[in-house]
Parts: sequence; structure tokens; C-alpha cells
Amino acid sequence: MKILLLDIETAPNLVHVWGLWQQNVGLPQIIDSGYVLCWAAKWYGEEDVIFSGINKVKPRSMIQRIHKMLDEADAIVHYNGTKFDMPTLNKEFLMHGLTPPAPYKQIDLLRTARSQFRFPSNKLDYVSQQLGLGKKTKHIGHELWIQCMAKNAEAWEMMEEYNKNDVVLLEKVYDKLKPWIKGHANHGVYEDGLCCPNCASIKYQRRGYAMTATNKYQRFQCKDCGSWFRGVRTNTAGEPTKFVGIS
Ligand SMILES: [Zn+2]
Repeated sequence: MKILLLDIETAPNLVHVWGLWQQNVGLPQIIDSGYVLCWAAKWYGEEDVIFSGINKVKPRSMIQRIHKMLDEADAIVHYNGTKFDMPTLNKEFLMHGLTPPAPYKQIDLLRTARSQFRFPSNKLDYVSQQLGLGKKTKHIGHELWIQCMAKNAEAWEMMEEYNKNDVVLLEKVYDKLKPWIKGHANHGVYEDGLCCPNCASIKYQRRGYAMTATNKYQRFQCKDCGSWFRGVRTNTAGEPTKFVGIS
């Protein structure tokens, strides 16, 4: 299974406002819609962090390149990407006249953080520091975005480092949270024999039974990532029945 870790950075909407507190912004007040400044992505298990930004290429080629990668990916790992990164990219695809990329599964680590734990903050920076996995690259705050929009080369260097580091952190957090992810795209469907649905490992042990309302299943625990799963017989289109693990 090809898993892509992804993070995008965007420019804010530019609007005219008459005050700072509790503003209702009408459509005529929108001067410019926000847009993607850059993205960083990494194929899980590979070394390179790929970066593309409008400082180096035209917006259309930047968007086409990530569209192509999404086409090749079976699953995307992101942090709040369900609500932010993916719809933002979809809007860009639509605006550039591109059709939807091939369907992919989404693994949103913010959703896992929110549903499985009670951290005082679910921000990637906080969670990764609590887990001892490092922190986000320090930057100059909102000014960095302003300077990048103004095409400041030094600011863009910082943005690239920041964006790439987010993806590196994302991968570390992904590895740590893996056994806690519910509904992870199932590796078993891509592999021949029984394996851990969350990490594809074939090192697992039988540990009791999983009971449902109507059935009793052999239950396993992955010795690599710690995921729990049960074995079920399934029918993959055009292939003989096989035994797969589901979490
Ligand atoms: Zn596993």
C-alpha cells in the first residue's frame, strides 16, 4: 500500500474590515481568496521529503504535481486534512480544471488524537512534544506568511524548512499513534497472507477471541505496532477467499 504523508501551507483570504472585534465579512469585502502557497509530502518508508511552492514553480504545476501524487496514493496521512488540506486542494483542482484524483483513504491524526486521548491541546506541535518526538520549526509568526506572499527569498527558505519539518513530525506521530488508529486503510487487502491491518507486519500473536453480536473470532495482537485485530475470511474481487485481519 502506498501511503503519502502530506501538509499544505496557504495564504489567508484578503478582506476589508472596519473593525477588529466580531466582524461579519460580506462578499464584496473579499479582495482576494486564500490560495495554496506550498506543500510538502513524503512517501511513507522513503527518505525524501518532496516540496513544491509558488516561489519556484507556477501555481498550476505545483497543483498538478500533488494531484499526480494523490492519484498514486492508496492512503493519505495528514493532521486535520479531512477538514482543511484535502478540501483546500480539491478547490484548487476544480479551479484548475482538473478532475478528482483517484480515490484514496484518509488517515487524519487529529481525529485519532481527539477521539482516543485527552491532551490539553491537540495541536500537532503540542502532541509531538508530549510524545518526545520533537517540535515544529520556530518561525517569525504571521510575518512569515506576509513575507512569502511578498516573495522574500529568505522567508521562503524558512517556509520550506517549516513545511518539510511538519511532514517529518507527522510521520513520527503517525508511527506512535498507529495502533490507536480506528479504521486505518487495511494493509491486509494489499498483502497475500494474514497481516496486521494497521502496519502490515506478519509478526502477531493469538490473544483471545473477539466476540460480536453473532460470531466469535480469533483475536490477534501485532507484535510490531501493538494493534489488535481479528481474522475474518473475505472475498477479494477475482481472487480466492482469504484470511484478513480487521481492527
Ligand atoms: Zn501492526
